[in-house]
Amino acid sequence: MKKLTLLFILFCFFNNLFGQVQSCQDKFIAQEFDKNRENGVFDYNDKWINGSTIKVKFLGGSDFVKSKIVKYSRYWEKYANITFKFIDFGSADILISFLDDGSWSYVGKASKKIASENRASMNFGWFTDTTKEIVFKRTILHEFGHALGLHHEHTNPKNNIKWNKPVVYNYYSNKGWTPEKVRSNLFPKYGETLSNSKYDKYSIMHYHIPKEHTLDGYSVGWNSELSNGDRNIISEMYPKPTTKKVTSTEISNTKPATGQILDVQMEHGVYRLDKNNTNTLGTELSISFNINNAKSKKSSIVAYFYHANGRKLINNEAINYRTDIGQVGALKEFSPTYEESTYDGLKIFIPYWTFDLGNGEFPLKFMFNLRSEDKTLVTSGYYQITYLKGKIVNELKSNAIMTGVNIGVLPIFVIKNAEEEECTTCLLFVNSKYQPILTQENQHFKICQNFTPKNFTEIYGVHPDDNKISLSLDINDIPMNKSELNSGKIYYAVALYSEGTEIIREATWTPIEFQFE
Ligand SMILES: [Zn+2]
Repeated sequence: MKKLTLLFILFCFFNNLFGQVQSCQDKFIAQEFDKNRENGVFDYNDKWINGSTIKVKFLGGSDFVKSKIVKYSRYWEKYANITFKFIDFGSADILISFLDDGSWSYVGKASKKIASENRASMNFGWFTDTTKEIVFKRTILHEFGHALGLHHEHTNPKNNIKWNKPVVYNYYSNKGWTPEKVRSNLFPKYGETLSNSKYDKYSIMHYHIPKEHTLDGYSVGWNSELSNGDRNIISEMYPKPTTKKVTSTEISNTKPATGQILDVQMEHGVYRLDKNNTNTLGTELSISFNINNAKSKKSSIVAYFYHANGRKLINNEAINYRTDIGQVGALKEFSPTYEESTYDGLKIFIPYWTFDLGNGEFPLKFMFNLRSEDKTLVTSGYYQITYLKGKIVNELKSNAIMTGVNIGVLPIFVIKNAEEEECTTCLLFVNSKYQPILTQENQHFKICQNFTPKNFTEIYGVHPDDNKISLSLDINDIPMNKSELNSGKIYYAVALYSEGTEIIREATWTPIEFQFE
């Protein structure tokens, strides 16, 4: 079975002391998506376990610079249930170097894998003992945001930035960036749950955008603080335990049950037997945890699913996978054998059929609780995922160039999950009454081109260096009848087909006006 690999490399930039733009990379470990399966889940955050102590070690650096990194990384601890422990010896989860050009970080727990290979997972390329305080602050906050699993906020699919692309390309090409680098870092707005579900222009994870780079004068300043949005998302991902008032009856009873999550492994796109005894595709969690003072008590792990915006994912048909109110979730019950029990990789499976979302790309999130006798002992915090089903086409539109009798139309779209499949794009025509223009055989007249996407995500016609498909014809070749000819106006739209079936058609018909010579 063929596996597809998605690889992201993002660059970020900051003004250094001298006002020069410096670039930095945010690195990901590739994710796989099996194209032979119709649906799947992406997890872009690679979140640490809630409550983790993350060990950080320096490879070089002056005491002054290191003290700044310690200082500003701690700003995140105020909102995240995470502790950064700076160590001099032993194995680290985040390894910080100062050798490479620019500043960058791996995203989330990928850092640990890289550090375990004794490679730097984070780099600060332009820090010296004379670096301005504000530059220390925003760079360190930003890179540690990546290390906790956050992505660039300007790639938030909810943003409405109207880029002045020629200006942006020109600006960055003067800094030595290739068009591909500009595109993948500034415009990758293709629907992944890469960020907070609400767009936040004040996020520490947002690029600075000068007003000259947008068509409507929109701009984003040099964000240097953790915004409310940053604080919200990080405390959703890593919620702090709620401190409960202990009542007198609880004090008189035996010790209260406690729990601690030790490890979470997630396997997306695996076949397992679900609770309805069907072998089906889903995500399997393997959760390792301690549970104390809960011997023989009815305990459970309960997972709950939500839309990225916080709305509960409801499916009343999700038999055995829904709560009383129909929220999609999964339950695993157990009774600890000992007062101090450790579970190593307890499995909980969530089949994708329970989502019942149809075809498309859906930003979701889920969390799970460890419970004993109806009390939540510990919560995982939210994991943001993107669920994708079927072939996805985003933002189909077109550009037309009319010269003399020639009509040339360039379809503009992003297609996903159609790698190495023959697809077709067609130009369709209707008359001024929006009735199809028919061929002699009474078929809807169209001009078509086949194309085969080479990668999981392929972009057509959006940027100067994208794939291009040109649909062109002579207006005299359109089989119009007399009244259609006399009306002087027809409309066109672009459609995409796969295996002969229309996947999507342009939302609006665009007029073409003509006259007899
Ligand atoms: Zn960045």
